[in-house]
Amino acid sequence: MNYISTRGYREAVSGARAIKKGIAPDSGLYLPENIPELKDIDFERMLEEDYPRRAARILRYFLDDYSREELERYAEAAYSQRFSHPAVAPLLQLDQSAFILELWHGPTCAFKDLALQIMPYLLTAALKKTGENKEAVILVATSGDTGKAALEGFRDVPQSSVFVFYPSEGVSGFQKLQMATQEGKNVGVMAVEGNFDDAQTGVKEIFGDPAFRDKLARRGKFLSSANSINWGRLVPQIAYYISAYLELAARGALTQGEPANIVVPTGNFGNILAAYYAKRMGLPVARLICASNANKILTDFINTGVYDKNREFHKTMSPSMDILISSNLERLLYELSDRDPGLIVSWMDQLKDKGCYRVGDSIRARLKEDFWAGFASEEETRAAIRSAFDQFQYLLDPHTAVGYKVYQDYRKAFSDDKPAIIVSTASPFKFSVSVAQAIFGLEAAHEDEFTLLQRIAAASGWVIPKALGELKIKPVRFSRVCAREKMKEALEEWV
Ligand SMILES: *Cc1c(COP(=O)(O)O)cnc(C)c1O
Repeated sequence: MNYISTRGYREAVSGARAIKKGIAPDSGLYLPENIPELKDIDFERMLEEDYPRRAARILRYFLDDYSREELERYAEAAYSQRFSHPAVAPLLQLDQSAFILELWHGPTCAFKDLALQIMPYLLTAALKKTGENKEAVILVATSGDTGKAALEGFRDVPQSSVFVFYPSEGVSGFQKLQMATQEGKNVGVMAVEGNFDDAQTGVKEIFGDPAFRDKLARRGKFLSSANSINWGRLVPQIAYYISAYLELAARGALTQGEPANIVVPTGNFGNILAAYYAKRMGLPVARLICASNANKILTDFINTGVYDKNREFHKTMSPSMDILISSNLERLLYELSDRDPGLIVSWMDQLKDKGCYRVGDSIRARLKEDFWAGFASEEETRAAIRSAFDQFQYLLDPHTAVGYKVYQDYRKAFSDDKPAIIVSTASPFKFSVSVAQAIFGLEAAHEDEFTLLQRIAAASGWVIPKALGELKIKPVRFSRVCAREKMKEALEEWV
C-alpha cells in the first residue's frame, strides 16, 4: 500500500516513509493510494480478540510494509500496560441508543493516547525500514491534548526528540501543568502568545522553511510531525471505530451489517476523518455526526459548502476544539472531489489568501450524504454535562458534552434511534473547573483545581486518574513563553 499527497506530488511513498515524513514535500497530506475493504475481515474471530490484536489487524490493512508480528508487538506494548482499563476503549451504554466510547483511559487522559502511544513504535521502525540515521525532531502544535500525549509517547525514545508549542492562554490548567511537568531527556515545551491557529501556522512555517531544514540536517536531524496531519496518527484511530462496532454487535445492540451512527466532537477533523475511513472500508455506518463548539466553522461548512475563517475566535471550555483551520478537512475534500489535487490546491490557496473557499454543489451533496453537523454554545455544553449527570450519574468532559448535545439535536430532528457511538475524548477530571461549574454552579471556579478533583470524585463515586492527582507534587520544568514570530528561534535554541 502506497501513499500519495492530496496536492498531487508525483512520487508515492510507503507507509513507513509517510509516517517518517509526516507531511508531503508539496505541503499536501499523505493518504492511501486506495482504501482497503473490510469485506473479508473475520468478524467472528475479531470478536474474540483483545483490543491490541484488533488494532494490529486494522493497522495491517494500511501498513503492509510492517509485518503482522511487528504490528502485534507494537499494539501489545502500546495498549496493554499503560491503559487503566482492561478493554482499553470501553463502550458504555447510556440509554436505548446512546453508547459512549471512552477513549481516555491512557496515560494523559485524552483520546490522543490511542494513537500517540503506538506511534513512537511505528516511527522508530520506519526509521529502520527507510535506512534513516538522522534523529527525528517531532514538532507539535497543540490545542492542549496532543502535546502532552506526544511528549509522553516519545519521551526517551531513541533517535527521536519532541518539542511542543501550545497557546499560552488557550489550554486548561491541568493541560498546562501536564506539559510543564513533563519528564524525559529528549523533550521541550514552549508556550506561544496567541491561539492554536497561531501556533499551528507557526509550526507549518517552520516545516516549510528549507534553510531551517538544511541547518537541522547538518546537525544530523530532521523534522517530523505527531499532529493528525501525520497518517500514523489516523490509522490507530480507525481501529477503535471498528472495535466499537464489534462491541455493539456482540451485545446485540445491532446485528452484524446493520448501521450505527457515530458522533464525534471535532476540532482538527482528525478523529471524525478516521471514522469516515472506517465507513469507506465498509463498516456499516449511517451518519457521521460532526459536533463543534462555539467555533462552529465546520457546522457552517457542512451546511453551506462555504469554509470561512474570517470570524471571531472563541475561547471555550472545550479548548481542544478551539480551531478555525481544520487541517484534516483537506483529506476529506480530496476524497469527495474524486481525488482531484488541482481542486485541493486551489481551495487551500484561497484559504491562505482570503481565508475562505466554497465547494461546488456535487461535493456539497456528497458531504451531506455522509455527515450531519451541529454545535453547542457554552451554556448548552454546561447544560449537557449537568443533564447527563442528573439522568445517568455519568460525567461528561466539556468536549464530549458538545458531542452529546449535538447528538440530542440530531435525534430530535430525525427520530433516528439507531445505536450511536458517541466518542468521549477526554476524562472529565482533566477539565475539572468546567465540569464542577456545570454540576455545582459557576462559583466553583473560585476553588483550586485539585480541590475540585476531590469534590467531583466525591459527588460521582468516580476515581481520580493517578496521572492528574500526582501533578500537584511534580516539579515544573517548562514555563517559558515566546512571541509568535520567535517560534523558530525558540526551537533552534532548544535543538
Ligand atoms: C483533540 C481533541 C478533540 C478534537 O479532535 P480532532 O481530531 O482534532 O477533531 C476533541 N476533544 C479532545 C478532548 C481532544 O483532545
